[in-house]
Amino acid sequence: RAKEQGRNSYQFYTEGMQDREMMRLELDKDLSQALANDEFVLFFQPQLDLQSSEINSVEALIRWQHPRRGLLSPAEFIPLAEESGRINDIGRWVVMAACQQLARWKDTPYENLRIAVNLSGRELDDENLVDHIRDTLKAEGVPANRLEVELTEEIFIQNIEHNLNQLSRLRQLGVHLAIDDFGVGYSSLGYLRDFPVDLLKIDRSFITDVTERHDDAVITRAVINLAHNLGIHVVAEGVETEDQLRFLKSHGCNLIQGYLISRPLPSEDLEMALEKGLLLPANAVN
Ligand code: C2E
Ligand code: MG
Ligand code: MG
Ligand code: MG
Repeated sequence: RAKEQGRNSYQFYTEGMQDREMMRLELDKDLSQALANDEFVLFFQPQLDLQSSEINSVEALIRWQHPRRGLLSPAEFIPLAEESGRINDIGRWVVMAACQQLARWKDTPYENLRIAVNLSGRELDDENLVDHIRDTLKAEGVPANRLEVELTEEIFIQNIEHNLNQLSRLRQLGVHLAIDDFGVGYSSLGYLRDFPVDLLKIDRSFITDVTERHDDAVITRAVINLAHNLGIHVVAEGVETEDQLRFLKSHGCNLIQGYLISRPLPSEDLEMALEKGLLLPANAVN
């Protein structure tokens, strides 16, 4: 397209950049209304326990039902929300929505499910976050051990003292802590010694070719062993094939999450799939 435009290509790109900037500004403005207009929704992706073949936990993944652009994925607005600082209010909404869901599941067949929520480093900066989580659990009458918090390794690079304190306080409440996207961050392993971690989630990039590539298989096995020797459970992310499931099961991985089991689903669809037993591939049971 730029080539066709020949001499005008410079102008073309400039306009493109202005368009993108306009779109960003517009999206940021929309984002400021989204909470008040109740436009966010949580989808839930089940995690399969490979030992019991049960689903005891789901990850909450946010979506934005944008009035004109349709359903937006987190990649399309979370980075923007982190820049503007709106992420803190969004995070509080996520915690509240997750706790309300847990409360709704009480006295139903789903009452033993745990929900994992994602929090970015920016959200952990907020001094009042832990109090908010404690108050929300209490207000909804939900035991803290039903809630899990997923954090990426970024929190072990900056503000380490502060973050360690936040995690300790969360852990004291009884909230479980998971390290998300494990293996692709730039942090040192020392934090596994210093932080109270319950769960490691092996990044999808190691799982994709784990049955074809020797190096990915070696890394995955090593992470599982490392975690287990530290008393930490392991989740494999992005599991899409039965071969991957068999590999992970044979090497003692505790849980798997990925399209093989289910895509992230609205709560009603998750409940229906659980009820109909649709989330257990035949091979997981053997
Ligand atoms: P994540 O926490 O690592 O979540 C896993 C992502 O991988 C999800 O993308 C999920 O839909 C996708 N996924 C799951 N299984 C498969 C699979 O088998 N194959 C492939 N190709 N993908 C799979 P999603 O929902 O678009 O979320 C992207 C990221 O956005 C999340 O990565 C998380 O870092 C962030 N995010 C999501 N919800 C929230 C939230 O409420 N707050 C914050 N701060 N971040 C969130
Ligand atoms: Mg996550
Ligand atoms: Mg992840
Ligand atoms: Mg991620």
